[in-house]
Amino acid sequence: VIGFQGQKVAVLGLGRSGLATARALQAGGALPLLWDDSPEARAKAEDEGFALTDLTRQSALDGVAALITSPGIPHLYPAPNRVIARALELGVPVDNDIGLFFRSWATPEWDNFEQVPKAVTVTGSNGKSTTTALIHHILQVAGRPCQMAGNIGKGVLSIDPAQDGEVVVLELSSYQTDLARALTPDVAVFTNLSPDHLDRHNGMGGYFAAKRRLFAEGGPDRCVVGVDEVEGQFLANQMGQGPGDDRVIRVSSGQKLEGFGWSVFARKGFLAEWRKGRQMASIDLREVKGLPGAHNHQNACAAYAACRSLGLAPKLIEQALHSFAGLPHRSQLVAEKDGVRYINDSKATNVDSAAKALQAFPRIRWIAGGLGKDGGIAALAPCLPAVVKAYLIGHSARDFALQIGDTPHEICETMDRAVARAAEEAQPGEVVLLAPAAASFDQYPNFEKRGEHFTALVQARLG
Ligand code: ADP
Repeated sequence: VIGFQGQKVAVLGLGRSGLATARALQAGGALPLLWDDSPEARAKAEDEGFALTDLTRQSALDGVAALITSPGIPHLYPAPNRVIARALELGVPVDNDIGLFFRSWATPEWDNFEQVPKAVTVTGSNGKSTTTALIHHILQVAGRPCQMAGNIGKGVLSIDPAQDGEVVVLELSSYQTDLARALTPDVAVFTNLSPDHLDRHNGMGGYFAAKRRLFAEGGPDRCVVGVDEVEGQFLANQMGQGPGDDRVIRVSSGQKLEGFGWSVFARKGFLAEWRKGRQMASIDLREVKGLPGAHNHQNACAAYAACRSLGLAPKLIEQALHSFAGLPHRSQLVAEKDGVRYINDSKATNVDSAAKALQAFPRIRWIAGGLGKDGGIAALAPCLPAVVKAYLIGHSARDFALQIGDTPHEICETMDRAVARAAEEAQPGEVVLLAPAAASFDQYPNFEKRGEHFTALVQARLG
């Protein structure tokens, strides 16, 4: 981090990003003052050799140049957090690790423009991790030096110094973009918008405003914008200057977008790229095994558009799409035998994400259940015709059985039994899908462990 030499900088929250911030500030010659409300987090910082400063003391922020906070800490004014409230009263700038990253990034030492590293950010309600990982994968296959950080993986301040021509791909949640004082990506990707985390941002307006900050005046050289919701349409219209402008690449998971400066959309299983009224490329996404379903076609279009704006050729991107294995626990193909595919979507912990998974396949042996959420699963009714049979597990098994009406089902209780029964009964052309529509905590520590258990059982069975 540059710009704070010899100055005190307060760091509130000592998780992964907080500790990375402390290290980076120290390396840049600043004097970090560290605090976390949790004794365990404080002990971890002390183990690393950092001294602590109780930032909740009245005078603790006197003479401090900035307060850097962690994504989880609410910061609305009047701020529920005392330290943030005090910083706002004193006029101490409040920032986060993403702001510090871009502050340092914006003043590079490179003089050859071609060699300047590029920052790509990915934000939106759903599909961020998949799109981020996919962009990173395509760049790797294309032989471009690249790193990936943010929500997916390591803190942005712990990445290696960027090399010439390198691309840094950052997954950013609204919890990170709402606060960062500098946000200057070269390519900004916005996937989609659905109601999520509304309490923190005071409703949909605040939530969208947090994401929009990446697309400020001046803004990125290139914007990749999902236009399947009205908010994305606004954003695209605002960032693009007119019909011939190609600063914005509009992306859709179903609409034909031929009349714009530049667009990438999926229709009937094909990805199409259009530029200034001409079709530039067409890719058969039905053959891309790692990205099943319309939601993943949206992710594929967004990643394709981001890579095109970095100068990659369509053929190269197409090849790389085929070797993407998918992220673990998100519509992940874990095995295929005798014409039956086994898909792990353990991340589908709520009705919305389970619906996306159920819409992605035609004939499904559905493993569902766990710790059910408020509101039940009645909203899944339109997806149920694709379910040949449900194998219900966990705490919500009986409750789900009542809610799915006359869809054939069996109460299996455990994953072991559900996998065994579904595998026994599955016919060629069918899919055994774990998409629980429920949290995992009744039987597992987290959704990852649940997905790993499913995968291990499938692999043990199929040999
Ligand atoms: P995020 O990082 O935004 O949470 P992920 O890529 O981890 O997104 O996907 C999380 C879940 O959301 C997946 O299991 C999938 O069911 C669903 N999903 C993925 N991509 C999309 C998309 N483009 N639109 C809607 N839902 C999606």
